[in-house]
Amino acid sequence: MSELKIDTRLWSYKARNLSPYVPGEQPQHENLCKLNTNENPFPPSPKVGEAIAKVLAQQADELRLYPAPESDGLRAALAELYSLDINQVFVGNGSDEVLALIFASFFLKERPVLAPDISYSFYPVYAHTFGIELVQIALEADFSISPDAYRQPCSGIIIANPNAPTGLLLSLADIRKLAGEHSNSVIVIDEAYIDFAQKEENGSDAEVSAVSLINECDNILVTQTFSKSRSLAGLRVGMAFGNPSLIEALTRMKNSFNSYPLDKLAQAGATASVLDVEYFTQTCQQVIDLRQALSAELMALEYNVLPSQANFVFARPKNGNASGVAAALREQGIIVRHFDKPRIHEYLRITVGTAEQNKRLIAALTALQTEAETAIN
Ligand SMILES: *Cc1c(COP(=O)(O)O)cnc(C)c1O
Repeated sequence: MSELKIDTRLWSYKARNLSPYVPGEQPQHENLCKLNTNENPFPPSPKVGEAIAKVLAQQADELRLYPAPESDGLRAALAELYSLDINQVFVGNGSDEVLALIFASFFLKERPVLAPDISYSFYPVYAHTFGIELVQIALEADFSISPDAYRQPCSGIIIANPNAPTGLLLSLADIRKLAGEHSNSVIVIDEAYIDFAQKEENGSDAEVSAVSLINECDNILVTQTFSKSRSLAGLRVGMAFGNPSLIEALTRMKNSFNSYPLDKLAQAGATASVLDVEYFTQTCQQVIDLRQALSAELMALEYNVLPSQANFVFARPKNGNASGVAAALREQGIIVRHFDKPRIHEYLRITVGTAEQNKRLIAALTALQTEAETAIN
């Protein structure tokens, strides 16, 4: 196909001035070891496919009709799972959509929104899309987040926890502190990876999810997704948990944009996933175990590996040549994520794969290192 020449004459100012998010690539070829977008290496619960198949087999005719606009069945299942009221639960077409509605609902104000300088790169994109000023707050030298650095006037704060791409976890005590110090701002905690965070077995702060704070703090809004821990990135389901007044603002924003963001099949599949607690618990634990093993193996290769609480690891090769390593891996069909950005360009973000995938990665990295050493000697 010849190169398409784009004519922007008819575009709105808005369309001309967008700077869209660039998702990790989804290359299509055989025997690819895809460790670049933090998808789950395990399939979704078999109950998900069964529930969708059942809708298609028994209620295909109902696809004539619009789906439940507020996804009541799915929201009730989520409310039950977290012992919340259904009015504290919102769902959308992927948490990316939920985040977009959050920016429009809470951050379109006089003051800027605050976010860590190293975090999910969609936040600056949404801010730009909605014309919201975003002030980036520098992470500490060890990549941790200090609540004290956020003491400035703002419309709200958004933090990924565990943070991406570092994988580091902020404590509930720190989140509570942020919420207390900013009682007139919405504090959004993006928990895309929280299900891979380990509760301290004997610690007093046994809980890691800020969902446990929403009854106490009416300005905390927590987002989660089915894309990572529930192996359903292709179904596009995300959610938010918070005070009913926050949820009502999101619902109004949604209904001013798209009243039916979740189709009937997605609602059925997602509900089945929530109900299959055993499968979910098991696969999350498997990913956690694989992450610990992968981290140990990278450390044995003298990588500096941050203590991850997510389904990826953030690691620096000994020589700091992360882009070189990423390119060499790619030649062997192994794709990892490298961010060409200040402070993190010497690191790789590697999604935790299956045991076989991780083995293939470690074998490739070991070979690279042996090659490099032979070249020097
Ligand atoms: C993957 C991810 C999301 C987006 O999830 P979807 O539900 O697939 O849209 C949101 N936030 C962070 C930090 C993520 O890594």
